Amino acid sequence: MLVFETIKEMHTWAGSARLSGKSTGFVPTMGALHEGHLSLVRLAREQNDLVSASIFVNPIQFNNPDDLKKYPRTLDRDLEMLSSAGCDVVFTPSVEEMYPEKVEKQYEFGDLATVMEGAFRPGHFNGVAVVVHRLFDIAVPTRAYFGEKDYQQLQIIKALVKSEKLEVEIIPCPISREADGLARSSRNERLSPQMRAAAPYIYMVLKEAKSLAAAHTAAQIVNFVTKKFEDHPLLKLEYFSIANADNLQAVSGVIKPDTYGFIAVFAGDIRLIDNIRLI
Ligand code: AMP
Repeated sequence: MLVFETIKEMHTWAGSARLSGKSTGFVPTMGALHEGHLSLVRLAREQNDLVSASIFVNPIQFNNPDDLKKYPRTLDRDLEMLSSAGCDVVFTPSVEEMYPEKVEKQYEFGDLATVMEGAFRPGHFNGVAVVVHRLFDIAVPTRAYFGEKDYQQLQIIKALVKSEKLEVEIIPCPISREADGLARSSRNERLSPQMRAAAPYIYMVLKEAKSLAAAHTAAQIVNFVTKKFEDHPLLKLEYFSIANADNLQAVSGVIKPDTYGFIAVFAGDIRLIDNIRLI
């Protein structure tokens, strides 16, 4: 497996892959890899001639400086995991390589970026869009793989590809979970044993919400979920939103097909997100 730190090397590799008519599946990550990331790499492996990945902890998508500072970094282990999963090339640029100058670009995603994660993490999606756009320009993938764990991010990337007319196919990938239901996340590594033991409650409540969806209104289910967290000694609900799968706008009344429940919860100072299709 090749490892490139410079844009020039990565772009040259991608250019020769294009020229030789080979398809490339690209998996952008922030490292601290787990089975969830590898499920994206494996799907990319199945669907393309070549697989590329990136490991870059993107400072401009962190609205909380402490979160950025404490973000887990496990590069050697990550490279071993990517190599075993069949990745051909990994791009691991420094912050200076990616951002030699101050980033001024502002994307406009309208209502898609103002709800949920957009409301609670100001500037987050602009930072995501900037880095993903740059990574696409550098890695020139045929297809790019994004997890439904970060469902709103996936919708933002689809909107970015459409508005910027980028020639890449976005492939959504299902949420990979631990045996106890907790959605896999690099941040799980930072949970205390007590918080780790409590965290599967999030998915348990989401599944209960799903079981209520056919016979209850959105408001009733939001009340139900809110109550489930009100009395919890460790987990603090930040938001639970019932929203349309495509435009992510909150729905009210009877729940129709293509509606999801989206949740963000604090386990101590670790913020966890998850989602579930309700109907
Ligand atoms: P990150 O390193 O957290 O930026 O994630 C890189 C990619 O992996 C994103 O497309 C995430 O949505 C995806 N991903 C992270 N965790 C999971 C998971 N548990 N299941 C599926 N995809 C995931």
